[in-house]
Amino acid sequence: MDEVVALDPEAPTVTVAAGITYGQLSPYLHSKDFALHNLASLPHISVAGSCSTATHGSGEKNGNLATAVSALEFVTANGELVKLSRQKDGENFSGVVVGLGALGVVTSITLNIQPTFMMRQYVYENLPLAQVKDHFDAIEASAYSVSLFTDWQKQRFNEVWIKTRIENSQPFNSAPEFFGAKLATRNLHPIAELSAENCTEQMGVPGPWYERLPHFRMGFTPSAGKELQSEYFVPRRHAVEAILAVERLRDQVSPHLMISEIRTIAADDLWMSPCYKQPCAAIHFTWKQDWPAVRKLLPVIEKELAQFNARPHWGKLFTMPPADLKSKYEKVPAFVELCKTYDPRGKFRNEFLNTNIFSS
Ligand SMILES: Cc1cc2nc3c(=O)[nH]c(=O)nc-3n(C[C@H](O)[C@H](O)[C@H](O)COP(=O)(O)OP(=O)(O)OC[C@H]3O[C@@H](n4cnc5c(N)ncnc54)[C@H](O)[C@@H]3O)c2cc1C
Repeated sequence: MDEVVALDPEAPTVTVAAGITYGQLSPYLHSKDFALHNLASLPHISVAGSCSTATHGSGEKNGNLATAVSALEFVTANGELVKLSRQKDGENFSGVVVGLGALGVVTSITLNIQPTFMMRQYVYENLPLAQVKDHFDAIEASAYSVSLFTDWQKQRFNEVWIKTRIENSQPFNSAPEFFGAKLATRNLHPIAELSAENCTEQMGVPGPWYERLPHFRMGFTPSAGKELQSEYFVPRRHAVEAILAVERLRDQVSPHLMISEIRTIAADDLWMSPCYKQPCAAIHFTWKQDWPAVRKLLPVIEKELAQFNARPHWGKLFTMPPADLKSKYEKVPAFVELCKTYDPRGKFRNEFLNTNIFSS
């Protein structure tokens, strides 16, 4: 189920079969002069899986990918096809979009689109931690999408990835220095030792939105390939304190880490989104593939970030006890009721959902 079902240039929206990947959809949209508002770091993932787990990109004015959903259809446990839209179904719709697979099988999704646009991507190296501490808001406001990569060593961010829309009235000034970081002179991988071959074009070369918003290119292995991932969302106002809290754990974190990434995401109204009613900064960890070690480390990070009410990414690894997790999502009780409406006998439940959502 990976086809485009309909393009409505007037709305403007695109309706897709749920299994389509962003890598399949994006070139089609661009060929029709349309674009999505944002993409994750990789285009390989499906629209249904991404929206169901509140997958996001970066950019303080950009909501996660699920915020583009304006309607969806899903098959419930008794085989009924349910159609919901933002316009007609208000609150229920907000509960269903980030559905964690708990409500039924999503078969089609309608996404808001916009006129296509071109972008440039610049990478800067060695951004001092002190600059992030003092100028986080200015750094994040400097472009459409900003990602900070760090190994938490040497009080600096190894790389800053800046993605800027070319038609922006205030274009990004690609000066040789950015808050003390130096403009890179070649394409880079977020993990600098790895080849940049699988990364999207940098160095300010213009390209369509779908070849600049993700870090990784379709057709190539994304990120490092063999890895584990975790990510925690903190309210945007606590971003700097949360970054400093993780930085203090650097000696415990670094031996198991490939790279961390900091991004910002706009607030939304989707019940199970980590950005429900709050703009967030997200602190991501790409871990070496050593689950016993990572499993011991995650509670340490979670304890440190608890003071900021950090919420984990649904599609990445976490160890937070279910009671803590649920206490951070005020809409869990309403979501459980919604699940009971569409799946009264729990056909779509699994170990993850039973543990994290439905346990009492
Ligand atoms: C290399 C790499 C980079 C990543 N980068 C990012 C990033 O930049 N930002 C970010 O937020 N996340 C990122 N992730 C995490 C990723 O976005 C999530 O794992 C996402 O769920 C992947 O989508 P998928 O289609 O592969 O998921 P799947 O595993 O197919 O689906 C995820 C879940 O969605 C639900 N689901 C899927 N399809 C349906 C359906 N048809 N109906 C109902 N429910 C459904 C199910 O609950 C399923 O378990 C990254 C992951 C990797 C491996």
